[in-house]
Amino acid sequence: MSKSWHPETIAIRGGRQISDFSEHSQAVFMSSSFTYPTAEDASRLFVGEQEGFTYSRTANPTIMAFEQRMAQLEGAERAVATSSGMAAIHATLVSLLKQGDHLLSSHSLFGSTSSVVNNMLPRYGIEVTCVSPVDLSAWEAAIQTNTKVLFLETPSNPLGEVADIRALADLAHKHGAVLIVDNCFCTPAVQQPIALGADISLASATKGIDGHGRAIGGIVCGSNVLIEQVWNHVKTAGEIISPFNAWLLSSGLETLFVRLERECSNALTLARWLENHPKVEKVYYGGLESHPQHALAKEQQRMFGVVVAFEIKGARKEAWHVVDSVELFSRTGNLGDVKSTITHPYTTTHCRVSEEGKAAAGITESLIRLSVGLENVADLQADLEQALARM
Ligand SMILES: *Cc1c(COP(=O)(O)O)cnc(C)c1O
Repeated sequence: MSKSWHPETIAIRGGRQISDFSEHSQAVFMSSSFTYPTAEDASRLFVGEQEGFTYSRTANPTIMAFEQRMAQLEGAERAVATSSGMAAIHATLVSLLKQGDHLLSSHSLFGSTSSVVNNMLPRYGIEVTCVSPVDLSAWEAAIQTNTKVLFLETPSNPLGEVADIRALADLAHKHGAVLIVDNCFCTPAVQQPIALGADISLASATKGIDGHGRAIGGIVCGSNVLIEQVWNHVKTAGEIISPFNAWLLSSGLETLFVRLERECSNALTLARWLENHPKVEKVYYGGLESHPQHALAKEQQRMFGVVVAFEIKGARKEAWHVVDSVELFSRTGNLGDVKSTITHPYTTTHCRVSEEGKAAAGITESLIRLSVGLENVADLQADLEQALARM
């Protein structure tokens, strides 16, 4: 890779693996194993003295192409791709924590992530404390001598709370811990956590990285030392991505920047319009001047993301009615898709979070979450207008 390439160029040309056939498009190597010229080569490959591929649970050229492109985009030394975003999160946490360690986490987490943090890790003997992502003094007060990892999503799902990555990285490092940021809501087109001091940036690649709602996958980016630890877990536990999905995700990256630019601009237009709508109580979007962390969002993100959440003047019945009345938005939980989506977090994405957990994270029955796609923004606005009118 040329060192002077800009991110838009890396998203298209970074990490390409070209075979002897000189194909222009990245090839898909759907091969479970790779052959060795001689027994001696095999022995050198297996102990890592010789570079090459042996078996696709440990490494594969198509997966490597995706990993290298992602590492370059996140400004990381190395990346490992996993079978899902949850595999990325679980593999990273269990490979960096052990029995007796303490995890300090944000309480504003994706539903399944919250289950890993609050239900699974304690069964392995890992202590967990959860705090508000935006209350720096709460993070400081909750640090313990055995705190090894700080973990958060920013912006958070679904309310878009923005945590101060630089301040939390400094806090982690002062206490010999590492900071892990779930960068799913931004993708590297919008935010680079590692440049702000985070040790690991991970994400569900299912969302904005694929961008077309086709494949499940995850990615973990960081230093050689940390990613070696995560990779050792991933290859042993069998959490690696399929080469076919890695190929789809690499092609998703080729349009990442243009997609995100238009989607974020559509999202800002809708957020501004919703904020003045008489049937809307409150809009949560980092791009609005009314957002409590608007200044921080402007500082650490290039744009404000594709997710807009809003509370309607009503309760669950009215919120469900709006969700059921849209004709263009898709009723589904996916986000970061070129197709705009709508969901009711309280009864879908966050249904398994406890009542107290939902209350602490501010997820009410009147909340609706949008992921804004690439349709013409006037059509999206008209669809919401007619749905709100029927409320
Ligand atoms: C979707 C999502 C995940 C989980 O990713 P999968 O690919 O569905 O396993 C984790 N974190 C956030 C913020 C998400 O939106």
